[in-house]
Amino acid sequence: TCTAEGVATALRAAARVIAEHRDELNRLDREIGDGDHGENMTRGFTALVSKLDTVEAASPGAVLKLVASTLISTVGGAAGPLYGTAFLRAAAAVGDAAELDPPLAAAALQAALEGVVARGKAVVGDKTMVDALTPAVAAAESVAVTGGDVAAVLSAAAEAAEQGAESTVPLVARKGRASYLGERSAGHLDPGARSTALLLRTFAGSAR
Ligand code: ADP
Ligand code: MG
Ligand code: MG
Repeated sequence: TCTAEGVATALRAAARVIAEHRDELNRLDREIGDGDHGENMTRGFTALVSKLDTVEAASPGAVLKLVASTLISTVGGAAGPLYGTAFLRAAAAVGDAAELDPPLAAAALQAALEGVVARGKAVVGDKTMVDALTPAVAAAESVAVTGGDVAAVLSAAAEAAEQGAESTVPLVARKGRASYLGERSAGHLDPGARSTALLLRTFAGSAR
């Protein structure tokens, strides 16, 4: 279920998955960036687990706010403020609801995307996490309006995000460090798109 406790459980699972994929995310970032994306994300989610262990969050929105402040202060690089803003906007979208329902889950993803775009100004095709998150939002919304439960909404989002991440391979990066490589950035998966897909897949699994 999607109470505060359920959301916290999903985030603990995300921390494990990010740590398991740390080397892969570093490797992807070595190819077109500075090789620290796995490091940055693992540091942030490890700090988050400590916070979840010590802070009692009363609602899903309060948990998401805790995620935002923790990631902003610990992840660093480009991804820290971007993911931080995403979770902050998601928190605002769910407000003080005691439980996430399908429309709220879809609205949270939509708000997260708007936060990333407001902060980083990337559009689809720039080879960033926006390429994973944008189709995820569309998929989540279409499942939410046709009556799917939260697990179905998040599964659709995860599937779309995975395809969106794969779609970054042939692209030339136009935002972030990878853009410094110009044409040489083509032929590689964007690390931030990959971490977004990993997070959504984990949230979907946790909602089941
Ligand atoms: P840094 O590039 O500062 O080392 P990270 O390696 O942690 O930071 O994160 C890199 C990821 O951040 C990229 O793979 C990309 O997905 C994402 N990113 C970078 N710039 C932007 C932006 N302007 N908008 C959206 N995402 C971005
Ligand atoms: Mg990096
Ligand atoms: Mg860096």
